[in-house]
Amino acid sequence: MSEYDYVVIGGGTAGSVIASRLTENPDVRVAVIEGGPSDVDREDVLTLRRWMGLLGGELDYDYPTTEQPRGNSHIRHSRARVLGGCSSHNTLISFKPLPSDWDEWEQAGAKGWGAVQMEAYYARLLNNIVAVDEADRNAIARDFVDAAQAALGVPRIEGFNKKPFDEGVGFFDLAYHPENNKRSSASVAYLHPFLDRPNLDIWLETWAHKLEFDGSRVKGVHVRTKEGEEVLVKAKCEVLLCAGAVDSPRLLMHSGVGPKADLEKLGIPVVHDLPGVGENLLDHPESVIVWETNGPIPENSAMDSDAGLFVRRDPEHQGPDLMFHFYQVPFTDNPERLGYERPEHGVSMTPNIPKPKSRGRIYLTSADPEVKPALDFRYFTDEDDYDGRTLVDGIKIAREIAKTEPLANWLKREVCPGPDITGDDELSEYARKVAHTVYHPAGTCRMGAVDDELAVVDPELRIRGLDGIRIADASVFPTMPAVNPMIGVLMVGEKAAELLRGDA
Ligand SMILES: Cc1cc2nc3c(=O)[nH]c(=O)nc-3n(C[C@H](O)[C@H](O)[C@H](O)COP(=O)(O)OP(=O)(O)OC[C@H]3O[C@@H](n4cnc5c(N)ncnc54)[C@H](O)[C@@H]3O)c2cc1C
Repeated sequence: MSEYDYVVIGGGTAGSVIASRLTENPDVRVAVIEGGPSDVDREDVLTLRRWMGLLGGELDYDYPTTEQPRGNSHIRHSRARVLGGCSSHNTLISFKPLPSDWDEWEQAGAKGWGAVQMEAYYARLLNNIVAVDEADRNAIARDFVDAAQAALGVPRIEGFNKKPFDEGVGFFDLAYHPENNKRSSASVAYLHPFLDRPNLDIWLETWAHKLEFDGSRVKGVHVRTKEGEEVLVKAKCEVLLCAGAVDSPRLLMHSGVGPKADLEKLGIPVVHDLPGVGENLLDHPESVIVWETNGPIPENSAMDSDAGLFVRRDPEHQGPDLMFHFYQVPFTDNPERLGYERPEHGVSMTPNIPKPKSRGRIYLTSADPEVKPALDFRYFTDEDDYDGRTLVDGIKIAREIAKTEPLANWLKREVCPGPDITGDDELSEYARKVAHTVYHPAGTCRMGAVDDELAVVDPELRIRGLDGIRIADASVFPTMPAVNPMIGVLMVGEKAAELLRGDA
């Protein structure tokens, strides 16, 4: 059987939600085309605290970045190749996007996606979203929370999703089951309970490589199965593209949908000139400051980065303008390239830019669909150097916290950048060169108003100028939420399912 009502390309974070919701109706037949294997019974995937072990492994598409003259050219972008997508690999930090994040989308032309309308989709989420369990709260993370509160005067937050905030420090909400540290990923929450639905077919280890058109209507998708068979999987109603912020624009461009001149240069026949495909590449860049501790720290944790801090430096700013994860490990992977050494015991604070101003781009370098696309984030290229300056402020604030009790008592010395690096230029140079990603690429098929020619999808997630296809994943984000994006992606999935059911 290779004809369905709906074909969902990508059984990842958003794709799992959509497939689950559509198949609640037993008369609707759905195929999910998923490049990776199942996560069922895979302890390496399902155990949240093992997330670092998946980085760069067999379940990671592992995309390199292009040369970043002002940033770190060595960043590898992990993207999960497994059912549940990145929600099967990530740290499951769960933030409902702030009202100002949704309202910014609406102002960017995403009519109907404002904070008031979006609230209902959060209430529908099936994931088990809970605060880091008491048993997982490490003593040093607790002392980080107390020290940040004392040093900066920010409120302590218990339950970041209870109400909107501009500033605050506390333990995160996570989508997990504290009793056994198991994930409550999109696949666990939305697919595992329903795998026996006769109207749901999940094509695992099957790669979608080209859309099939009839004029401007998308009829289906050409896939290569695990056995190497080429199949055209047809959709009677619609195709849903949910391959994520890297692979959704990649598949479109290989199918002839994208910036005309770029496609022609590579000899890809142009089906539909859509200049916005691959543009507006967003991320949350982050730097790192590492301390050696006086000795080993306790073992308990949910996933080694359980607490965080939000700061608003500019009182006029909508929402926080600086964020920190607190890592209970010395995260020196990038500083080591500059000659720093990993201490045996240590912790890290990571200044993160909630609303970065730099914008990047994804593009193809070959007509061969096997060749990975180029990811040029153009990190720290914004005109006023807002992004670079934010990291410098972050290092200074992190140092204030480190000097404050009860955290100060744990710390032996600052390893990197080290106490001798104090000038803004030196701090900026260090912060940018060791910057890493927290794996939040988004925005590359951005949603916008119906008459916005650079938008890729309209507010109903339909691709401009095509029929029979919508996109629903992190690629449709018009702008980056100030908070970690996974819950926003799940909510995009819930809203997409509702739009589809409404139309049906
Ligand atoms: C290591 C890591 C840590 C993170 N931590 C957090 C966090 O703590 N909190 C947070 O909010 N966010 C976090 N994120 C980001 C968050 O997980 C992502 O933004 C979100 O999951 C993206 O969802 P998506 O549906 O857009 O794509 P994905 O979840 O990546 O889904 C895409 C799916 O499509 C499949 N696919 C792609 N191309 C094809 C193709 N051509 N054919 C068939 N299948 C295909 C993939 O295998 C994948 O399953 C993290 C991400 C990573 C990688």
